[in-house]
Amino acid sequence: MSEQFVPGGAALMAAAEVSSAPTYRPLPVVVASGEGAWLTDVDGHRYLDLLSGYSALNFGHRHPRLIAAAKDQLDRVTLTSRAFHHHRFADFCSELAELCAKDMVLPMNTGAEAVETAIKTARRWGYQVKGVPADQARIVVAAGNFHGRTTTIVGFSDDPAAREGFGPYAPGFDVVPFGDVAALADAVNDRTVAVLLEPIQGEAGVLVPPAGYLAAVRRITAERGALFIADEIQSGLGRTGTTFACEHEGVVPDMYVLGKALGGGVVPVSAVVASREVLGVFTPGSHGSTFGGNPLACAVALEVIAMLRTGEYQRRAAELGDHLLRELSSLSGSGAITAVRGRGLWAGIDIAPRFGSGREVAEALLRRGVLVKDTHGSTIRIAPPLVIEKDEINHALAQFRAVLSDG
Ligand SMILES: *Cc1c(COP(=O)(O)O)cnc(C)c1O
Repeated sequence: MSEQFVPGGAALMAAAEVSSAPTYRPLPVVVASGEGAWLTDVDGHRYLDLLSGYSALNFGHRHPRLIAAAKDQLDRVTLTSRAFHHHRFADFCSELAELCAKDMVLPMNTGAEAVETAIKTARRWGYQVKGVPADQARIVVAAGNFHGRTTTIVGFSDDPAAREGFGPYAPGFDVVPFGDVAALADAVNDRTVAVLLEPIQGEAGVLVPPAGYLAAVRRITAERGALFIADEIQSGLGRTGTTFACEHEGVVPDMYVLGKALGGGVVPVSAVVASREVLGVFTPGSHGSTFGGNPLACAVALEVIAMLRTGEYQRRAAELGDHLLRELSSLSGSGAITAVRGRGLWAGIDIAPRFGSGREVAEALLRRGVLVKDTHGSTIRIAPPLVIEKDEINHALAQFRAVLSDG
């Protein structure tokens, strides 16, 4: 079991607090390097990273294949804009489409941009294909959603921290409880162009919907002629033990929204992936991005896709995730943990109040060399890199036991 220590870098943390806008309250650690599942701070203390950049680092820090792909591309060409073709673009689009068993890809950079792109796609599709009257399109979303930080997206969030002070909010969204089939069926009508959901709600605390929910969403949207948009930015690309979280219910959405791990933790890469009928609604000039689909992004993402095609990471997430969730559930016997949710290498753990807030537990783990993130007061979220080893998971679990027995 690790000794406790005090992380270094106090001066750098204080300086950051003075000169950076206060949008985050980071844990008190200053990272200087990373490799695989491990980070090292400015004083040389080592930490097991159980957050993985919210699943942007599914392949760990600086995976040799991804760094090699990036370095190779850095020596060729990094940006052309979409005004010209470049040598990685066709392969990136066709291989990502194939991974998703779809026809077309629309690349962007961040997750929020991809969600915005999905919203624009669904509305255009609604007017052109479904025949919704002009400016009447509606999109059904779930309570507790997290889809990014743009003004449109925070307008349909119900998290006050994300939303307050940023109005007026864009109209056209209907919010229903997550996991409630009847509410969803009531909300989808002839003006509904899409249902936009996270198959598992990450930010909300790794909420897995009741069995059959995603299949019901698929059936209802198909019957009523609305698109099913799966925001798999965090749940996708191996995290839950399958390439996409929708696969656990055998569901194929009309549109995948991807991001985070698609860029391998090296560059921001996001995309919307759908059929020709859906993404074909765009025309030159109707949407775009200066950096979207750039050569460096495509080179790294192509390597990510090749790594996912081996199935190794999905398999690791499934096997190690079973172990992790089983061990966490057994910890709940002590009374310190009131609930454990998850799928694959992804878990939300609710901490009993007398053992401290989520933040306090995260800080105690930090002093024992384990990095996690708290959410919504009392929940700890963990999403280790899929390259983590079983003995490293066991090491982290030992630190959890130590922290939760101190209460
Ligand atoms: C992180 C995330 C986003 C936003 O991605 P950014 O790259 O931060 O804009 C959207 N949807 C989900 C489900 C996410 O986890």
